[in-house]
Amino acid sequence: MSEQDIQQKKLFDSLLSDNHSDLSSESINQQNQRLKTTLQQLLHSAQHNQETQEKFYQLELYFLQADSFQCLMNRVLQELKSKFRLTQVELYLFDPEREVRQLLEEIYGRLDYENLHYFDNLQHLKALYSSSIKTRLSQDSGFIKPLFKGFPQQSKSVALLPLTRGNTVIGSLHIGSRDANRFSPQLATHFLQHLASIISVCIESSLNQERYKHLSLVDILTRAKNRRYFFQALAKEISRSVRSEQPLSCLFLDIDHFKKINDSYGHLIGDRALKFIVQKITPLLRRSDVLARFGGEEFTVLLPNTNQQDAYEIADRIREIIETNPLQTDEHEIPITLSIGYSAWQPKSDVRMTPEEIQNLIINQADEAVYAAKSSGRNCVKPNI
Ligand code: GH3
Ligand code: MG
Ligand code: MG
Repeated sequence: MSEQDIQQKKLFDSLLSDNHSDLSSESINQQNQRLKTTLQQLLHSAQHNQETQEKFYQLELYFLQADSFQCLMNRVLQELKSKFRLTQVELYLFDPEREVRQLLEEIYGRLDYENLHYFDNLQHLKALYSSSIKTRLSQDSGFIKPLFKGFPQQSKSVALLPLTRGNTVIGSLHIGSRDANRFSPQLATHFLQHLASIISVCIESSLNQERYKHLSLVDILTRAKNRRYFFQALAKEISRSVRSEQPLSCLFLDIDHFKKINDSYGHLIGDRALKFIVQKITPLLRRSDVLARFGGEEFTVLLPNTNQQDAYEIADRIREIIETNPLQTDEHEIPITLSIGYSAWQPKSDVRMTPEEIQNLIINQADEAVYAAKSSGRNCVKPNI
């Protein structure tokens, strides 16, 4: 029971007490005065509770309206702190398979918040919550020290809020205040529990949304972007290129004699070769470049702000790294080579073309260039003619 609740109860008890000796010794006026003061205090406390509740509802609504994981994190990790004058807000997400981290990295690149952390097993959390994983308020933040950096210096009281969905723990939210009485163990916890439930729902649903969105744009086998993403990116880059008058290049990559790899070592090794190629090429590209699996054993690379000479150099670096790094399996060393064709497009103010015409031109030229590379003996790079 909170300090405020205890006070209220005392007031009620004094009002309702059947103390007739008081009645005889106090005048009616005094009784009335006492009654008025008590009612005013009750009213004030009810008003305060209502305001707090209102503030919580507003905040919860604000979290529910977040339209992406990043937006939600901005609200929980940054705005919760300022809106509730907290000294610390630390969010821990349970991510045993590193799936959440991989997903967020693929979508956002680096998504860094100094107060967003991950944990791989529940032991840490169990130690923190002691017996059972339930909301815990404490005025002694020392017990957090070995587990969580930073907390004890600044916060005089802390609230540890487990984040759960059904019976599953998905994380833990730790909030701290400089005020030692803010999260005293006697305090009622229902507001905080409610807040934790809402945050849990928001985290789960925003991660699911990110997963669905991402899955529709990514090739499941290789984790490169898929064909749909490639066409969206191509349209965007064409209009950017027209606006900025910067060149745009596109590579088409086709694995040489890939059928032979499947036939000789089996489809699963073929699949590994496709993944391997993506892993080898990715580090050679900038964040703004787009590597996509166009279909089967064909890939495309979109290179914004890249002219013909640079496109050739990047393409040849890709060709070379694949040629010089055979795929190692337990039993075999499998050489792989690529035929690469590219088209480099430079917008010209005197040539009027629709975005669709530009798109078809870029793709057809790169496609023809791959055929030229194949006819020239494979394992080489050819430009659009
Ligand atoms: P070329 O040098 O002329 O390109 O010869 P190629 O054998 O690479 O080309 P072809 O088009 O004859 O064969 C492509 C092969 O790629 C056939 C198909 O079974 C295989 N393939 C397509 N998608 C996948 C996949 O997801 N996994 C595996 N293992 N193989 C695939
Ligand atoms: Mg092919
Ligand atoms: Mg091929």
